[in-house]
Amino acid sequence: MQIMSRAKKTILSALSGTKTPLDGTIVFTSGATESNNTALLGAVHKSRPHGKKIVSTAIEHPSVAKTLTRLEEDGFEVVRLAPKDHEDFTGALIGAVDENTALVSAMAVNNETGFKIDVPRLYREVKRKNPKTVVHIDAVQGFLKVPLDGDLISVSGHKIHASKGIGALFVKKGRNILPLMLGGGQQGDMRSGTEPIELIAGFEAAVKAYRGDTAKFAELKAYLLDRLTRLDNIGINSEALCVPNIINFSVRGVRSEIMLHSLEEDGIYVSSGSACSRGKKSGVLGALGVSDRDADCAVRVSLCADNTVEELDALCVKIAKTIERVRR
Ligand code: PLP
Repeated sequence: MQIMSRAKKTILSALSGTKTPLDGTIVFTSGATESNNTALLGAVHKSRPHGKKIVSTAIEHPSVAKTLTRLEEDGFEVVRLAPKDHEDFTGALIGAVDENTALVSAMAVNNETGFKIDVPRLYREVKRKNPKTVVHIDAVQGFLKVPLDGDLISVSGHKIHASKGIGALFVKKGRNILPLMLGGGQQGDMRSGTEPIELIAGFEAAVKAYRGDTAKFAELKAYLLDRLTRLDNIGINSEALCVPNIINFSVRGVRSEIMLHSLEEDGIYVSSGSACSRGKKSGVLGALGVSDRDADCAVRVSLCADNTVEELDALCVKIAKTIERVRR
């Protein structure tokens, strides 16, 4: 129990990104997919009497997107806004909230391009408009990178170098959710099942050990973009409103799978979308304003604290060689 409460404290402090920890509790889950399902299904059942409208985005991870579709089938009206249609996207989400809105669910940082929203502003202004609206944030890519706030916040261990199979859901003080897992009543009856203490201890250790540094990521990103734009026919899909550790670009004329396999030959692992969408075309890039042609050639580089300029050089050399081979 000591391990659990210490881990909760560490995660609560890390979530806010400031010196003041968020006020609430942590429910440990098997990962962010479970956190997202629990948040969405557990939140709207509780708030059902307050309204039937859900405000979300067209760029959510499938664990949110498919759960929203389920809620739509159950009679909720889901509004999905696309960043490409709004200059001030956070403002557009706030603007869509009305007295009938039961829930807002938005990702802090998009997994494919790194596109980010202003989470503290979203939370503050949604609450000002309708205090009954529950705000859920999928913070899998934003945890430890951007400041967070919300009634419910999902995070995942394996995105910060903890084991696979552990995640968490932050639940704001005073908020209640209907549990998905019923059983022995562990974790305040919000998630039954024996707690995986080893995974929880590992999650805490990963939070403490995390060394991602925004300034260093920004330097590496600027370096990579500079090298890439010297090559022919490159489109950049991660612009100013994106976190610096995710860089998405299109090598026009070379389909993503071909580029991925070519890079793999040299032990360079990047992805075509997000690692967890299994290479399926998701429509997310389209909603972010990337053309279909560029989406077919998209490559996503996700940086970690250990990456070096030399590795980025090796990546660019291999990309140039692949372009030469394919376009010949
Ligand atoms: N949400 C986002 C934004 C993700 O990138 C991912 C996967 O990486 C998930 C949810 C699912 O997380 P998990 O693999 O922990 O279930």
